[in-house]
Amino acid sequence: MHDAMADLNALLVARIAQDGPLRLSDFMAECLFHPTAGYYSTRDPLGQTGDFTTAPEISQMFGEMIGLSLAQSWLDQGAPAAFTLAELGPGRGTLMADILRVARAVPGFVDAANIHLVEASPALREKQRALLGAAPVWHDTVEDLPTHLPLFLVANEFFDALPIRQFERRGDMWCERMIGAADGTLVWGLGAPCPQPALAHRQDDTKDGDLVELCPQAGPISTAIGARIEAQGGMALFIDYGDWRSLGDTFQALERHAATNPLSSPGKADLTAHVDFEVIAKATPSGHSKLTPQGLFLERLGITQRAQALATKLDGEALKSHVAAHRRLTHPHEMGTLFKVLALFPKRAAPPPGCETWLLKS
Ligand code: SAH
Repeated sequence: MHDAMADLNALLVARIAQDGPLRLSDFMAECLFHPTAGYYSTRDPLGQTGDFTTAPEISQMFGEMIGLSLAQSWLDQGAPAAFTLAELGPGRGTLMADILRVARAVPGFVDAANIHLVEASPALREKQRALLGAAPVWHDTVEDLPTHLPLFLVANEFFDALPIRQFERRGDMWCERMIGAADGTLVWGLGAPCPQPALAHRQDDTKDGDLVELCPQAGPISTAIGARIEAQGGMALFIDYGDWRSLGDTFQALERHAATNPLSSPGKADLTAHVDFEVIAKATPSGHSKLTPQGLFLERLGITQRAQALATKLDGEALKSHVAAHRRLTHPHEMGTLFKVLALFPKRAAPPPGCETWLLKS
């Protein structure tokens, strides 16, 4: 693993020597998905012994609530006899396994579901196969998801791993943050001021020197999913940390649950940025919910009642850690407010349970 890291540093330095400085998005893509030295390509980074822990790895209750929301939406939309049940970036497959287990309580749902997983990491595809069996169909990109069936989809901590670009405002222009090399080490630099049409909407809420981020893949992914949902029915739940419109530097590297310098260990640390949900909401041709805090979403779906029911079978350390897991998922000082849920659904359909929506005018 150490060699792989050294290799990726050397590889990036050589590429910069030949082609000039890299955009942050190119750097992120190489660090996360380089075929032999990329972070996700080569390992399972999740859990206590890995670099970070996600909601489905904290407690089965997270996947159970998502499963209930998906299954209720499926019922509300007339229980279509065949549909695509998809997940983007399924990690170890834990969330999908929890969804399928709880959804067995809804007659017909699991039998009607064709499972599709979008996963770029060969190492994680193996983990998913070990947990979920051979039934799912794996895809490299969202564009490959079927277009002819209703689509019920979930993505937890997927958008935060998509490559971003960063810009600093200079008057009406923007300087892109770039990555160069000095004496074999990767260093930050700043490109020349240029107009950026994609940032036109940021002229009003930023001032000179402010930093904004742009995730080029987020909009097209939302459009592809929303188009399927609007045409065929279904819904999507996007859960991630972030907010409506991002401001400031949210790019971060995590290694063994601690922040680290993103340039010093390419391929060795998880790289993420906060999700700009406005871009996702504006790109979908379907309807969408309000941005709903994760804690509120889970409470509305009944996580506390579920936690109490599970607690009756536990005592001692197991009970303590169960109570801590409920708190971690829902409390405003933990994941409850930092993480948000955005739902896509057909304009003609009822919104998915759990999500805040606008009152309809009568
Ligand atoms: N959803 C899981 C894992 C989150 S980690 C959980 O909540 O535990 C991010 C996941 O997205 C990993 O499975 C990673 O391999 C995948 N991923 C990240 N970027 C991707 C991309 N561009 N295409 C496909 N999968 C991607």
